[in-house]
Amino acid sequence: MTRTVLDLKCVHCGTVFKRSFEDKRRKTYTSGELLRLEGKACPESCDNEWFSIEKQHAIRKFKRHYRDA
Ligand SMILES: [Zn+2]
Repeated sequence: MTRTVLDLKCVHCGTVFKRSFEDKRRKTYTSGELLRLEGKACPESCDNEWFSIEKQHAIRKFKRHYRDA
């Protein structure tokens, strides 16, 4: 199990934030790729479900370095 942190940008309001995922198999995301997240994932609660991927971080020592991500 690896944990991946993505820098996501809301395509609606432009807010950039980090979101962590647990991956059973390692997936590589492409910068600029669009990702759909349900349930008001945007910190601004703007009802958008589409986010562009700015950057991907593959984290092994998640707790030590990315506790607040
Ligand atoms: Zn937004």
